[in-house]
Amino acid sequence: MTPPDISLEFFPPKSLEASFRLWDTVQKLAPLEPRFVSVTYGAGGTTRELTRDAVKTIHRHSGLRTAAHLTCVNATREETLDIARGFWDVGVHDIVALRGDPPKGEDRFTPTDGGFANSCELIEALKAERDFTVRVGAYPDIHPDAGSMDADVTYLKRKFDAGADEALTQFFFDADAFFRFRDACVAAGIDKPIVPGIFPVENWKGARRFAEGCGTRIPDDVAARFDAAEADGSSEAFARDFCIDLCERLIAGGADKLHFYTLNKPELTQDVCKALGVTRSDRMVA
Ligand code: FAD
Repeated sequence: MTPPDISLEFFPPKSLEASFRLWDTVQKLAPLEPRFVSVTYGAGGTTRELTRDAVKTIHRHSGLRTAAHLTCVNATREETLDIARGFWDVGVHDIVALRGDPPKGEDRFTPTDGGFANSCELIEALKAERDFTVRVGAYPDIHPDAGSMDADVTYLKRKFDAGADEALTQFFFDADAFFRFRDACVAAGIDKPIVPGIFPVENWKGARRFAEGCGTRIPDDVAARFDAAEADGSSEAFARDFCIDLCERLIAGGADKLHFYTLNKPELTQDVCKALGVTRSDRMVA
């Protein structure tokens, strides 16, 4: 099995302690030689400065190719493009361009006055502004706002037609869901990479909550196995084995890139990548 190329996702730290934890994670995972690492943008646009600082710091001090997430929420077009230009000027040329989730307490995305109405507008404007590499979100279990997989695939095609270079998927628990989605994308004429998003589950209850929030389906047998592992105290080993198995299925089915949602914790991602042969264990930082 050829080891996949990986990328890593972090979230911006909100305290000094969290900053140290993130930096420790970056250092421990850097030897995996990720294609790029990315930093999320808080729901509702809440972490604008924190995201900017984290992106610039990681870019400057780690030597890793670093991508900034940007959303259309709570900002005018000019404010958003100003942030993007700021990234370009310091050498950050990768953006994960998203419509974004609504702020807490709101259940629908509403464009800001003078802001981008959807992710396609954001992608087009970024590409017109500078030669950014633009990645976008994709949803193997179908986005909650999409009426059907066909509608979701059609919308993803519009994002590629608007200039996106690559899609990173929401996390999922069923490799077949990814393959069905990927095949539907190919049938719709999408020829750009669609990279599976991998969520190493450190905390099963938290993972269930995330899945519910973003429309990720948890097959009954998978939920039962995670529940059983939690009940008998083997959840860590089970989560690792489950994640390795999911990745191996994806690789066997043709996925040559994986995007890891690290939640700023290195251990599980490190273990899974080691099992996949992503890097020699002697290069890992203990
Ligand atoms: P879009 O692709 O623009 O829309 C989502 C779906 O809604 C589409 O697939 C389509 O089916 C439907 N839809 C939307 N508009 C239309 C329309 N006009 N006509 C028809 N159908 C439509 N959120 C954050 O707040 N910050 C982050 O940093 C962040 N990072 C993410 C990273 C990844 C890899 C992924 C997959 C998601 C991330 N999210 C983040 C979550 C994301 O913001 C939400 O899933 C949001 O609800 C959709 O954003 P999007 O850009 O994928 O939406």
